[in-house]
Amino acid sequence: MTSSPPGASETDLGRKRRARKIGRVLAETHPDAHCELDHSNALELAVATILSAQCTDKKVNEVTPKLFARYPDAAAYAGADRGEMEELIRPTGFYRNKTDSLLKLGQALLDRYDGKVPGRLVDLVTLPGIGRKTANVILGNAFDVPGITVDTHFQRLVHRWGLTTETDPVKIEHAIGALYDKRDWTMLSHRIIFHGRRVCHARKPACGACTLARLCPSYGTGPTEPAAAAKLLKGPRARDLAVAAGVDPELVPAQAVTAEVP
Ligand code: SF4
Repeated sequence: MTSSPPGASETDLGRKRRARKIGRVLAETHPDAHCELDHSNALELAVATILSAQCTDKKVNEVTPKLFARYPDAAAYAGADRGEMEELIRPTGFYRNKTDSLLKLGQALLDRYDGKVPGRLVDLVTLPGIGRKTANVILGNAFDVPGITVDTHFQRLVHRWGLTTETDPVKIEHAIGALYDKRDWTMLSHRIIFHGRRVCHARKPACGACTLARLCPSYGTGPTEPAAAAKLLKGPRARDLAVAAGVDPELVPAQAVTAEVP
């Protein structure tokens, strides 16, 4: 017997209402949600986002201060010495491909956009190394244009919540966009990604210490027993997350609080 996807029997209106509730609970659960890639302008964010492919944001944030100081503008990227840049970004992995993208990005910005990162999706996606996901990150965080960022965490969570059965990122973006007010898209994306990194992990989600337990058709995918679930919470706010879910914060071990968020 095949099992139905989570939330399959729900009406569209019911799903929309539940989605809105999930959004409200996430806002209360993760008041600190933000773009976790350090940056101070659109170019820095574009560069950091390119480096974040197959790499943790923490690792990216370790290399970018030196990189941003060495290459302050598009012209600096376009004219960079390949070997020097490769060494600077090597810790982020795939450094040859990433260097290639950064050199080409600098050149394309100089050639077509007067050295500036454009603020429109249609332009951003034409730039080397920048796909739709990256473009939405840049729009939402550097230009205040609402954008939904469908990364691996976002995909996993909206599927677990039964908010869409789409698997193509662009279709997911549109399906989830239709459930929420446009002005909330950017913060919603940050909160969903925060939840995916700290609570609703790919392998063992912390269901028994999750604020969304009552709204989630996938409750039980991970341990539901509070003591077992509390150990799975991650990051400096792990104990606050336990409290928000009605779980004794004493059950959260010190390693959970200091654990690196993926
Ligand atoms: S109840 Fe479990 S599956 Fe559902 S959001 Fe929470 S951690 Fe994820």
